[in-house]
Amino acid sequence: MNESMMKHIDDVMSHCIHCGMCLPVCPTYALTYQEQSSPRGRIRLIRSVHENKIDLSDSFVDEMYFCLDCQACQTACPAGVQYGVLVEDARRLIAEKKYDPITLRFVKSIFLRGILASKFRTRLAAKILRWYQRSGLQEAVDRSDILSVFSDRLHDKHAMLPKIGEKFFDDGVAEVISPQGKPRGRVAFLFGCIMNVALPEVHRDTVDVLLANGFEVIIPKQQVCCGSLHGHNGDIVMAKRVARENIDVFQQYAFDALIVDSAGCGAFLKEYGTLLVNDPIYASKAEALSKKTKDITEFLVQPCEGLKPSQGLQGLRVTYHEACHLVHTQRVSQQPRQIIQSIPGIEFVELPEATWCCGSAGIYNVVRFDDSMKLLERKINNLASTNADIVLTANPGCHLQLQYGIRKFGVSERLGRHGAKRQMEVMHPVSLLNRTYKV
Ligand code: SF4
Ligand code: SF4
Repeated sequence: MNESMMKHIDDVMSHCIHCGMCLPVCPTYALTYQEQSSPRGRIRLIRSVHENKIDLSDSFVDEMYFCLDCQACQTACPAGVQYGVLVEDARRLIAEKKYDPITLRFVKSIFLRGILASKFRTRLAAKILRWYQRSGLQEAVDRSDILSVFSDRLHDKHAMLPKIGEKFFDDGVAEVISPQGKPRGRVAFLFGCIMNVALPEVHRDTVDVLLANGFEVIIPKQQVCCGSLHGHNGDIVMAKRVARENIDVFQQYAFDALIVDSAGCGAFLKEYGTLLVNDPIYASKAEALSKKTKDITEFLVQPCEGLKPSQGLQGLRVTYHEACHLVHTQRVSQQPRQIIQSIPGIEFVELPEATWCCGSAGIYNVVRFDDSMKLLERKINNLASTNADIVLTANPGCHLQLQYGIRKFGVSERLGRHGAKRQMEVMHPVSLLNRTYKV
């Protein structure tokens, strides 16, 4: 680590006044009630490592990866401690010293470096998964319970695989799409990696909504994964590499804003400026791209823009789960609610503990499956209490995790609002809006 980064980390830690106001909002502290599993406890541990008072140890590594990096503690902190910077730097240190657990190292090298960092390999892996699902093999493996022979967790993780649809978002999509009439502005769009193959319909809804609201949309084909999963898991080298690639791609176009419909990706793009602050060639370009990045919900409710009125939808009860990287990292919380509540006929009900992490947290649900499921069950119980037909969320990790939780914990049976076993639907707020435009 260079000297200025070291100074920055020391500076961030020095702001902690040990008041403990972050403890009640920390999901991992709520699981153990152990000080070392709280934000304050982890800051003490990180400080001790920095001051060479303790060595890297298995328990230190365990705490750094038990943390969800949900950043709820940042929102609660009266002293403005940027906790996320600390835990991500600790993970970088762990990776550099090759102290990370073997399963984590495996997931990082195969999934993050091997697949997500390359668009070609992401598409290839998704095509193989699609074939596996369509051939009926996935269902047969699920039914046979054969994976439980190796481990119950393997069986459950297999059931978490996202369903891959007919077409990826970037299959045949035009590079520039114009609205009817004179455009009121020009925006670029990030389609990323996982959403491109696993939730392409959300991207299509986002582009439709932008067009319906009079924006021309640029969709550069050469863009790559944003690097957030790499950055949050200590692989700063790869995070910087893909950030530079994206900067090179997007700077070829003129646009007013870079629109993102994935909370995790948007949060990381907004951090490109910090990530590349010491890069003599990319620092200012990174800062410029970060400033232009907007979550789609944030962009649509900007006062000067004005949202196209929707036709409305009758008889639907809707709730909203706040993605950590939208509410805590980007501080976007009211805008999605404004969009939802602008739709006539919708009954909006607040979700208890809406800002409590669902346990997805990047690759957390793979590498800390048991802890993730405890958080997911808590979230699903809260969802069931709303009696909602639809839960909205603006992040692919949460979207897929909630879909899995609804299947696993059987929300439909507990709800039964219409007398039928209707399964609660998971949607992006923009998808709901687009549905009302098509009524
Ligand atoms: S709320 Fe902030 S200042 Fe207080 S203990 Fe937590 S991190 Fe430290
Ligand atoms: S990031 Fe989340 S899990 Fe980690 S210490 Fe903060 S509140 Fe707890």
